[in-house]
Amino acid sequence: MNHYTYYCPSCQKEFSKNFIEENLIYLCPACGKAERNKPLEGVLRIKYDYEKIRKSDFKSKIFNSLPGSIWNFPEILPLDFDYNKNVFPEIDFALLNTLTLSTNPIIKLKFENYNLYAFDDTRNPTFSYKDRASILVAFKAIQLGLNKISAASTGNAGSSIAGICARLGLEANIFVPKTIPESKRIQIQSYGANLFVVDGTYDDAFDLCLEVSSKKKWFNRNTAFNPLTIEGKKSAAYDIYILFRGKVPENIFVPAGDGVIIGGLYKGFLELFELKLIEKLPKLIAVQSSGSNAIVRYFKTKKFKFKSAETIADSICAAAPRNLFMAYEAIS
Ligand SMILES: [Zn+2]
Repeated sequence: MNHYTYYCPSCQKEFSKNFIEENLIYLCPACGKAERNKPLEGVLRIKYDYEKIRKSDFKSKIFNSLPGSIWNFPEILPLDFDYNKNVFPEIDFALLNTLTLSTNPIIKLKFENYNLYAFDDTRNPTFSYKDRASILVAFKAIQLGLNKISAASTGNAGSSIAGICARLGLEANIFVPKTIPESKRIQIQSYGANLFVVDGTYDDAFDLCLEVSSKKKWFNRNTAFNPLTIEGKKSAAYDIYILFRGKVPENIFVPAGDGVIIGGLYKGFLELFELKLIEKLPKLIAVQSSGSNAIVRYFKTKKFKFKSAETIADSICAAAPRNLFMAYEAIS
C-alpha cells in the first residue's frame, strides 16, 4: 500500500501516487496551470498518514537521529520503501551515504540582546540548500526508471542537480538565463551537465525547460512545478526541530525568490504540528530584494502583477515566483 497521496490545496482534489507519478504529472490535473510570467497554479502537495505516524515511535526515532538524516524517516518521504527489507528499492545506500547533508548546520550569532542562529547549508554536497530537493528528485527519477533530469535555474539549483546527477550516474539538462554568474555556470559545467543558456530571463528559462522536458520525457526538477522540490526542502524544518530538541525558534527569516524554500519549511513545520510534535508554527518571514519583491507585493495587494525583476542577489531574482501562493500561505 502506498503511504502517501497527492492533493491540490486549490481545488481540494486528491490523486493517487501511482496516477501522478506513472503519468509524469506535476501540477494538479484538474486546475493546474503553468502560464508565462505567472505563478504556477495547482501546485500539488503530498499527504502522509499522520495519524498512523503519530501512533508509532516517530518522536523517539527523530530525537535519536542526527540532522541531515531525513532518509531515516521513510514514512514522511515520497519514495517507495520496502518495510520488510528496510530499503528504498532501486536506491543504493552506499551512494546515499556519499550524499550526506550537514549534521550541524546551525551557527550561533549574537546581535544586540538577541540570540540569532544562521542555518548554514553550504556544507551540503554541492554547497547549497538546493541539494535537499535535488537528492529527493534524483532518487524519485531512479525509482521511476528515468535517467535524465532537467531543471531551470538561476544557478544554485542547476549546479545542485548537476552535481547530484553526476554522483548518481544520471544525465542533467540545465536551462539558465544568460545573466547567470560565471562561477555558477562553471560549477554546472564542471559536473558534466548539458547546459542550455537561454537568451532571456530566469522566467524564460523556466518556460523553455518545461516545454523541452515534456517533449523529451525528462524528469523535471523545476522548482515548485515538481512537488518533490517542496518535499526535499521541508527536511530543513525537521533538522531545525532536531537541533533545537523540539523547541523551534519563534521567528525564521527566509530569503525568497520563487518561494519554494519558505514553502518547504512551512510544509515541514505544518507536518510537525500535524504530528503533535510542536504546539505552534514558527513565524516565517520572507525576505526579498526591493528589485525582486513579487511575494511582498502580493502580500500587500493580494494580486499578482508581473514586474520584471533585477537584483544583485541573483539567487532570489524571480519576477513570477512559481510557488507564490504557498509562500503567501506560509507568511500569512
Ligand atoms: Zn486543483
